[in-house]
Amino acid sequence: GSFWAAAMETPPRWLAGLRFDNRALRALPPRLVALSEPALALLGLRAGAEVEAEAALFFSGNALLPGAEPAAHCYCGHQFGQFAGQLGDGAAMYLGEVCTAAGERWELQLKGAGPTPFSRQADGRKVLRSSIREFLCSEAMFHLGIPTTRAGACVTSESTVVRDVFYDGNPKYEKCTVVLRIAPTFIRFGSFEIFKPPDEHTGRAGPSVGRNDIRIQMLDYVISSFYPEIQAVHAQDNNSVQRNADFFREVTRRTARMVAEWQCVGFCHGVLNTDNMSILGLTIDYGPFGFLDRYDPNHVCNASDNAGRYTYNKQPEVCKWNLQKLAEALDPELPLALGEAILAEEFDMEFQRHYLQKMRRKLGLVKVQEEEDGALVAKLLETMHRTGADFTNTFYELSFFPTGPEKPSLEEFLTRLTSQCASLEELKLAFRPQMDPRQLSMMLMLAQSNPQLFALIGTQANLTKELERVEQQSRLEHLSPAELHSKNTECWVAWLQEYRARLDKDMEGASDTAAWQVEHTRTMYANNPKYVLRNYIAQNAIEAAENGDFSEVRHVLKLLESPYHSEGEAIGPEEAAVTTGDHHSYRSRPPLWAAELCVT
Ligand code: AMP
Ligand code: MG
Ligand code: MG
Repeated sequence: GSFWAAAMETPPRWLAGLRFDNRALRALPPRLVALSEPALALLGLRAGAEVEAEAALFFSGNALLPGAEPAAHCYCGHQFGQFAGQLGDGAAMYLGEVCTAAGERWELQLKGAGPTPFSRQADGRKVLRSSIREFLCSEAMFHLGIPTTRAGACVTSESTVVRDVFYDGNPKYEKCTVVLRIAPTFIRFGSFEIFKPPDEHTGRAGPSVGRNDIRIQMLDYVISSFYPEIQAVHAQDNNSVQRNADFFREVTRRTARMVAEWQCVGFCHGVLNTDNMSILGLTIDYGPFGFLDRYDPNHVCNASDNAGRYTYNKQPEVCKWNLQKLAEALDPELPLALGEAILAEEFDMEFQRHYLQKMRRKLGLVKVQEEEDGALVAKLLETMHRTGADFTNTFYELSFFPTGPEKPSLEEFLTRLTSQCASLEELKLAFRPQMDPRQLSMMLMLAQSNPQLFALIGTQANLTKELERVEQQSRLEHLSPAELHSKNTECWVAWLQEYRARLDKDMEGASDTAAWQVEHTRTMYANNPKYVLRNYIAQNAIEAAENGDFSEVRHVLKLLESPYHSEGEAIGPEEAAVTTGDHHSYRSRPPLWAAELCVT
């Protein structure tokens, strides 16, 4: 009450002589791993090297930012297809919303700062490795031009927690680390699932089941705060169903565009649960994410996703499924039949439209739209798959595909392109069987003799993958590097001829060939990144940071802030190194050790 408040402001006279100096508390201060200048600039902050120590205090939560009011947000979610009831937020803390001179409003959160009322049995902490990944990837995605939440700072400390044990059975202590994250809001689909009635599978219900009054307030709040254009259109309506329908339509479209962007950059989210789906269509929660190295549409980046629910090529349908759960959570404020109709009308179309538009840009098709462009893209991906080509680098190399009337021979270009295909050694590592032969034959027997039981234990995806590995392995054994190379060359020649014909058509569609050339090149540079946050790059930065050296995190952050080749930029020694393969720059395909990396 007011007595205590007054006592804090002016201590009684008899205490005025007390001089605190809390050395013990400050003996091991938190340490700043890195700041993102562009993210902090959103808040109107310019934090240079001179304020690092203070930044570490404030952005770890050791000191409370003036005006902040820590609180925790309650949400539910469907995890791996099942309603899980109340989930969080157990590890992230709302600090408040900062209003900027530009009239923007940004919510700040500290992720990993300790337990909240929703931490359940967990500790609310995050560790250095996961925080560095989240920090770097949030910023990398932003600079790639993909809608995402931001990260302003990453701060670590000497406090440790145990997340894992070593193979020798000893606990592995990891440093507690906090990320300052920033977004207009962190409200997710799961925020609306707190109203869910008991689930037919789990029997779990949302903590606010039956509280339609709160759901109405939530909708009013979300729409008027974050979709003001939609609120304005319906300001005069006396029923809100149409407004809610427009809102859901917009969330559907944004989500479709977001996942189309992911597919085009080879981003796998890894944990596409409904609690990790932003109500603003932002990429949110960077955990065991991954960028495709060797193109594999069946890539699963989350090592604990045994059934492969969140496989790269399933992301669009999973996002649609999640939108279905959101529609269910909005009923009856948005009648379910209406929500489902909107989803059916919008999602696939918006996804396809955005995907194809982006892919055309990635291929530098700037003038003409052809019916067969979708097929051209599909064939490119198939060629990448068959030749074990690196996703990012193949697209990047295509920016240098010679165009124009001279039609130089494909030979030199083919050398560049095939150097982005996995070597025999890499393929053997990638397809090494993971079960011992006895285990495999037992699984095969079970799958044949009792398919229902087998389906139930959900290891079908594992078995299919293992069989593919075994088959690949025996194929690879009979292959020489020269044979692999000529097979790859053949595949690529076929596709490149089609591509060249298509480029010619595009150029013919332009009145000025020189102007087409400029726009073509510029478009390809601007849509095919040379740097993405590959696991091995993050791993290098993490290992250095775990040894107390944060310079690699900062270096990688700088690279990721300019992921695209800029016009006039020299093809420097880094570029040369990639094609000759004699040095590992972050432009390179992953080194062999990266095949062993495991993220959960
Ligand atoms: P995620 O799969 O990363 O989205 O995590 C699911 C939920 O688990 C989050 O929404 C958090 O509320 C909770 N959670 C994750 N890590 C922790 C932690 N270290 N302590 C408490 N809760 C956590
Ligand atoms: Mg989450
Ligand atoms: Mg997470």
